[in-house]
Amino acid sequence: MVADDVATNRFGRQIATRFPPEPNGFPHIGHVKSICLNFGIKAEFNGRCNLRFDDTNPETEDIKYVEAIKNDIKWLGFEWDAELYASDYFGKLYEFGELLVNKGKAYVDSQNAEEIRENRGTVTTPGTDSPYRRRSVEENLDLLRRMKAKEFPDGAHVLRAKIDMAHPNMIMRDPILLRIRHAHHYRQGDAWCLYPLYDFAHPLSDAIEGITHSLCTLEFKDNNDIYRWLVHECGFEKPPEQTEFSRLALDYTVTSKRKLLRLVNEGYVTGWDDPRMPTVSGMRRRGATPEGLRAFAERAGVSRKPQQTELAAYEAAIRDDLNMRVPRVMCVVNPLKVVITNYPEGQVEELEASYYPHDVPLTGSRKVPFSRELYIERDDFMEDPPKKFFRLAPGREVRLRYGYFITCTDVVKNDAGEITELRCTFDPATRGGDSPDGRKVQGTIHWVSASQGLNCELRLYDKLFTVPNPDEVPEGQDFLSVVNPESLVVVKNAKIEPSVAKDPAGTRYQFERTAYFISDAVDSKPDALVFNRTVTLRDSWAKVKGK
Ligand code: ATP
Ligand code: MG
Repeated sequence: MVADDVATNRFGRQIATRFPPEPNGFPHIGHVKSICLNFGIKAEFNGRCNLRFDDTNPETEDIKYVEAIKNDIKWLGFEWDAELYASDYFGKLYEFGELLVNKGKAYVDSQNAEEIRENRGTVTTPGTDSPYRRRSVEENLDLLRRMKAKEFPDGAHVLRAKIDMAHPNMIMRDPILLRIRHAHHYRQGDAWCLYPLYDFAHPLSDAIEGITHSLCTLEFKDNNDIYRWLVHECGFEKPPEQTEFSRLALDYTVTSKRKLLRLVNEGYVTGWDDPRMPTVSGMRRRGATPEGLRAFAERAGVSRKPQQTELAAYEAAIRDDLNMRVPRVMCVVNPLKVVITNYPEGQVEELEASYYPHDVPLTGSRKVPFSRELYIERDDFMEDPPKKFFRLAPGREVRLRYGYFITCTDVVKNDAGEITELRCTFDPATRGGDSPDGRKVQGTIHWVSASQGLNCELRLYDKLFTVPNPDEVPEGQDFLSVVNPESLVVVKNAKIEPSVAKDPAGTRYQFERTAYFISDAVDSKPDALVFNRTVTLRDSWAKVKGK
């Protein structure tokens, strides 16, 4: 569509889009789609894109949301051409109000809210003209000026467009443009008591900025008529045009800011940046990359048809990006002690370990200390293994990643019969992972030196909801009843190789054979490491695709 408009020079000016958030919440994955779309068009067509805060509602808006939105857009890798506020247009919008009154296209209505609602009619019956609809231009202007001068209380009058009370599109039945609200605005203070409605502010803000393509989500389809009416009546040449696209709806996720706010306020999560939140700040803290999020938005695409996106598609986009950029390290989630009985006591040797596998075009390595006592994953040992279990078992030999072959000789148990320790021997000739005699082992497992490894806390995050569509729960329940009680499992005593100690908080890794993790930007400290699970290694997306 945009390419066609460029080819025909339809607007006679540079392509211009805008991202118009209301500063009443933190940006979420749905906003990411809109951001990528608007800023993506700017990039593709050498255009411009404004960041415009749609801050016309004094009650719910806050500067802390403005800061979060700016921060998140920058983090995603985009730059806006101008930072603008719809509230800065209050004066201009008021003037458009007078212009419309002068043209006989708007009037001051003095019905109360209930009367206005009743007289709108229904989808099947036409509305009724307000008794104030025939006021003269002079009377309208006088009232409008006195409304602005704070002479009237809330709700005494409104400015309405004069269109058609029998219009098939209900929105066109003399929509309200300005209302009186004696409220403090976070930017305008008490300068105004007249506040514009969305349908008045949005099209005209676009037009004032010379926007060409006003892209919004499908729920604004019916607002397109008033959009076109207003920019035309207010005299804009080649005005912007509104085009709707379907919202991003992700399985196991809610994206309504009202619902996200409830999760925060009612303590289901620790804040807007809780790693389980579908907010940009939450996903960032969980370890998602800007590149991964942009790739996801790209893959989700832009359509006119409502669609539901699988969570696996999101995870695959994040995983694909992390796979190509993060170092691999070893961390044992659920440690079981191994004593290498033929390894000298007190000896520590450094083994060379590559950070990246061969198919990742990055280089780098670190040293991992090897010692007589190690930890391996409890799951990597079975006393009585079934056929397909290729890891450690009594009498069986496996490879320690980057290290030696070891063979389990003894299993040590406590009085309760639980395994507390394994005794193994190592083959010194297999250093680095190969046996000179060509002997093969079937399994390779990860490990951490008991004396050199570091304790760490792992936060294993999972889906925040138990059902794919938390917005559709049975009658009488709400989305909070399907919050997943296991959306966070904390592991306190995991063991990680010491190489990570020097990395700053917010470093991403793949813990080999386990998952992608990031050290927590808020809580991880050098002497108390905390890692958040970003996404598991299992590629459920491939499975879904294979179906
Ligand atoms: P919410 O339902 O979370 O309150 P909103 O539409 O009220 O969302 P805004 O701050 O007004 O939030 O949104 C800014 C821009 O982001 C708008 O252009 C809106 O259409 C777009 N947007 C919001 N949610 C989504 C979504 N799920 N998918 C795509 N675009 C979205
Ligand atoms: Mg909105």
